[in-house]
Amino acid sequence: MTGVVGAAPGGPDLRSLPRGRLEERVALAGGKPFNARQLFRWLHRRGAASLAEMTDLPLRLRERLAGESRLDTLERAGEQRSADGTIKWTWRTADGRLVESVYLPEPDRKTLCVSSQAGCGMGCTFCLTGTMGFGRNLTAGELVDQVHRANRRLVELGEGAAPRPLTNLVFMGMGEPLQNLDGLVTALDLLLDADGADFSHRRVTVSTSGLVPGIRRLGAETTVKLAVSLNATTDAQRDAIMPVNRRWPIAALLEACREFPLKPGRRITFEYVLLGGFNDADEDAERLARLLRGLPAKVNLIAYNESAGLPFRAPAPERVEALQRLLVARRVNAVVRRNRGRDISAACGQLAAAGGSLTSPAGPG
Ligand code: SAH
Ligand code: SF4
Repeated sequence: MTGVVGAAPGGPDLRSLPRGRLEERVALAGGKPFNARQLFRWLHRRGAASLAEMTDLPLRLRERLAGESRLDTLERAGEQRSADGTIKWTWRTADGRLVESVYLPEPDRKTLCVSSQAGCGMGCTFCLTGTMGFGRNLTAGELVDQVHRANRRLVELGEGAAPRPLTNLVFMGMGEPLQNLDGLVTALDLLLDADGADFSHRRVTVSTSGLVPGIRRLGAETTVKLAVSLNATTDAQRDAIMPVNRRWPIAALLEACREFPLKPGRRITFEYVLLGGFNDADEDAERLARLLRGLPAKVNLIAYNESAGLPFRAPAPERVEALQRLLVARRVNAVVRRNRGRDISAACGQLAAAGGSLTSPAGPG
């Protein structure tokens, strides 16, 4: 980072610190509690990219902080805009990883799809991110900074008012969020803080491929919404496409869902990617309805987005409709997720920064 006094020697990343730890550091650096709140607001409400921006913080305090800590900020390495309004950004981390976020504007909401890891180690056979393998967990600061960089860019593009055009967040980008629980929980606390970006827990959703202990911890430590990528209705079928199922099969997964603490009126979203000829038969809808019986569930049917090199095919459009009809007839709340940003490879499962390479090419990008 380029602080007020040049390059910092290291130390913790200020944007990754839980609020209490940030306050401690400010106190140790000789700042007042009031200064800690100012710093927090710069980092998490206004999304400052450097200490130099924080002109109302005492210079001496900024110098102390710059000497003892860093401020990592994502650099925008790419921006692609779809005909339907979707925008995909590629961000470069301080150590040169590339990760992506996708902006999905709708009449009543502006959602950012946030990445949780560089790559993903879960190995789902239909998912492009899965083919990259695991890179590393993103830090809490990198999770929240996707939101800040997007907000700032959206203001520049006239998509909304500062400091926060975004209204909703979904952790459905690259990576498995529940494999990055420490970073995720800290990031959620920061994003929901009234002095920070101030998101409502009703407008934040975390999607998992089905890590059962992680689902329990998410329920115990946060109040955000849960989405589960089910994608199959028998263990044999799910084993074949999602290796996580061999560890936590469907029954264990649904038990964790039944025990997940839900606010009144809230439902768990089950994502179901339709793979043509694989899981899109009438019997799949019947089994799905049976599995979800008694669960406060909502099903998101997603037509598979094909990727070159992966063996799966998109379902016939009439199969998507047929499954929805069959589910609704069995009183399952099922909607078809509209495919957004396919022309810029921003749709579900198409995120794989720079065609799959995990680090940025050498030289100016
Ligand atoms: N790792 C988490 C969150 C990111 S994946 C998870 O798996 O839930 C987000 C969603 O995209 C998941 O529901 C996944 O099943 C779906 N998906 C992955 N590849 C896809 C593709 N090619 N077409 C459509 N959906 C896909
Ligand atoms: Fe990872 Fe989710 Fe893709 Fe599976 S579907 S490989 S968990 S990003």
